[in-house]
Amino acid sequence: MAIFGKPKYTIVRLRKRDMPDGLWTKCEGCSETLYNKTLEENLKVCPKCNYHFILGAGERIKILIDTDTFKEYDSDMLPADPLNFKGPKTYKEKIMQDQGLTGLKEAAITGEGLLDKKRIAIAVTDSRFIMGSMGSVVGEKITKAIETATKERMPVIIISGSGGGARMYEGMFSLMQMAKTSSALSYHHKQGLFYISVLTNPTMAGVMASFAGLGDIIIAEPNALIGFTGPRVIEQTIRQKLPSGFQRSEFVLEHGLIDMIVNRKNLKLTLSQLLDYLS
Ligand SMILES: [Zn+2]
Repeated sequence: MAIFGKPKYTIVRLRKRDMPDGLWTKCEGCSETLYNKTLEENLKVCPKCNYHFILGAGERIKILIDTDTFKEYDSDMLPADPLNFKGPKTYKEKIMQDQGLTGLKEAAITGEGLLDKKRIAIAVTDSRFIMGSMGSVVGEKITKAIETATKERMPVIIISGSGGGARMYEGMFSLMQMAKTSSALSYHHKQGLFYISVLTNPTMAGVMASFAGLGDIIIAEPNALIGFTGPRVIEQTIRQKLPSGFQRSEFVLEHGLIDMIVNRKNLKLTLSQLLDYLS
């Protein structure tokens, strides 16, 4: 009898091309292939390794704000191109491309709503839109939301997903947004109102150096990249190897830059408890 005889059963191998598109996602943390429906149900957090996938601004609002209570501010505000910027792509082309890709008009959604029945002003930046960078529209929308909150005595929550910092396509107009948003938060603070900043992957540069870094409480999602200059540029400048985990949530918590790290599934509850505690 042959040792390696033909098996009596048939081995069915699922080839990659047999997997319908859009049903599976490969985890960037552990390379596990995840069923999209499971991933969605788990708020886009890998059930195997706790990798937090990037969420769009709309999804953020949906998981934090009570159903049917969100009222958007300034939804029609559109970016201008003050420098008539031309690069490999013009600024206008880049805007149109990311508008098509995300369905957003700009990188921030702002408004107000109820979080566990508590009225708050909320702003969310979306890292899929020109890296969530802060141009004039993002700065103006965030400033106006903070000013409304000051006038109507609401706490502010800002969820940052801004790897791009200030939007250099708009030159100094984008840099001015750093002072403008910070100043609005200062007035809000002087009225005895509080502001919670939530940092998601990534929050860098001019955003981290302005409103994102100014929270009375600063929360981060696990393993988010948080900092000013990116690690590669720092390494090239100081010609030294950076410690492992540099600029990640866990590292910046240990060094006192943030107050807590909260898993996405606990974020709404934590924010609700902080609102109760701080009101
Ligand atoms: Zn994973």
